[in-house]
Amino acid sequence: MKVTEIARIENYEPAEDLLDGRIVMITGAGDGIGAALAKAVGRSGGTAILVGRTTAKLEKVYDAIVDAGGPRPAIFVMDFETAGAEQYDQLSDAIAETYGRLDGLVHNAGILGELTPIEHYDVLTWQRVLHVNLTAPFILTRAMLPFLRRSEDASLIFTSSGVGRKGRGFWGAYAVSKFGTEGLMETLSDELGESTPIRANAVNPGATRTNMRATAFPAEDPNRLATAEDILGTYLYLLGPDSRDVNGRSFDAQPPQA
Ligand code: NDP
Repeated sequence: MKVTEIARIENYEPAEDLLDGRIVMITGAGDGIGAALAKAVGRSGGTAILVGRTTAKLEKVYDAIVDAGGPRPAIFVMDFETAGAEQYDQLSDAIAETYGRLDGLVHNAGILGELTPIEHYDVLTWQRVLHVNLTAPFILTRAMLPFLRRSEDASLIFTSSGVGRKGRGFWGAYAVSKFGTEGLMETLSDELGESTPIRANAVNPGATRTNMRATAFPAEDPNRLATAEDILGTYLYLLGPDSRDVNGRSFDAQPPQA
């Protein structure tokens, strides 16, 4: 068990204009928690940069933000499993041309892989999960740091999990990738915290009603779970100015489950 104290923000009530003028990139923005967060960013006055692999889903989120009167978002279609240097360069060029800076980057995209004992875990699946969940956030962070450095107050959010803090049998590459995610966040926060206005923190969403959760727990009644909209307070807190001095912390977005 990691000794780091897990933080929690209770009953956070974001100001209506919390993210006014801020530019926030969200990966996996087409579905689940990422889609809900992207819409909340738009409602709070932020410009959401929607990154994901399925165009139709991203367009739906884009339309929802515009229909609700939010700032016009941007869409970047990118598959983190296959993206190479050229795609990261294209993304950097587009951010440089259109915005010149980033105030937030939420690494939310992720895949579950298989729930199997390590002894039988498929090696290719292991590599895919580690790549999408851990290596891609490293590459994207590296590519976006020049833009985050241009913000007065930038927030990097990594998505963790309960199994990224205490290993659990059968969760294989997913659990290991989330341990790595916490390590990446801590390493970065130590490097950036003193010398830049960039903070890095991790959020464990907790059990949330999404496709990923339904795949992991097919027999569970999803209606008993928090929705993606229910758990956004911690993300909004970390994206806005209220968390300006919070760096290197690991958060739970929900109270401990009974
Ligand atoms: P979903 O499966 O609903 O959403 C995941 C998102 O990531 C989708 O938009 C998906 O795109 C995108 N994505 C997956 N692979 C890639 C890829 N190769 N390239 C680009 N985008 C990709 O999951 P959740 O919303 O539940 O999960 C969001 C995050 O929260 C994940 O990091 C997950 O590990 C974490 N988490 C979730 C919990 C839960 O209970 N739901 C609990 C703990 C952690 P597409 O829609 O096109 O498939």
